[in-house]
Amino acid sequence: MAFTLPDLSFDYNALEPHFDAKTMEIHHSKHHNGYTNKLNAAIEGTDLADQSIENVLVNGFSNTAVRNNGGGFYNHSLFWSILSPNAGGAPTGDLSAAINDNFGSFEAFKDEFSKAAATRFGSGWAWLCVHKSGKLEVCSTANQDNPLMPSIGCGGTPILCLDVWEHAYYLNYQNRRPDYIKAFWNIINWEKVSELFNAHK
Ligand code: MN
Repeated sequence: MAFTLPDLSFDYNALEPHFDAKTMEIHHSKHHNGYTNKLNAAIEGTDLADQSIENVLVNGFSNTAVRNNGGGFYNHSLFWSILSPNAGGAPTGDLSAAINDNFGSFEAFKDEFSKAAATRFGSGWAWLCVHKSGKLEVCSTANQDNPLMPSIGCGGTPILCLDVWEHAYYLNYQNRRPDYIKAFWNIINWEKVSELFNAHK
């Protein structure tokens, strides 16, 4: 079974002015689509072809094409799912309590996550992950790696991520990655992040 590029649950222009329509269109229909097609080509006819993406990331890790394109497929799929128009604000309920427990406050968490995104040199991602114990952790990874891969990042299960490749922001923000990171906080779908937190803690 080949992997399929997931549809977005909103229009390309729905996240404006934070993420612009042109960037969203190219990012989803070209970049994410490219990772999806190259992943499928890399696993076709192998043992990986019938595995879940989570298992492909672990079992195909030593194959560079699988690692890069499997990561690209998974990372962007998660990224779109935690974005939403008219979202932002702060998390509530158990996730809010866990963030306060682990980081001291929502503001302190925002600072740590933003710093991880801002200081990743070159291309990569920032992550919030939950461990089975309920512990939350922030990290960043290079290229299309992610914390589900063996010995990459903080481990645990990613529940929030931010793409800091230049293709994610350069059309609108040029070199101003910090402005892009600031904008991200206005379009986070905390309901979805909470759902992932509850499913994986
Ligand atoms: Mn990307």
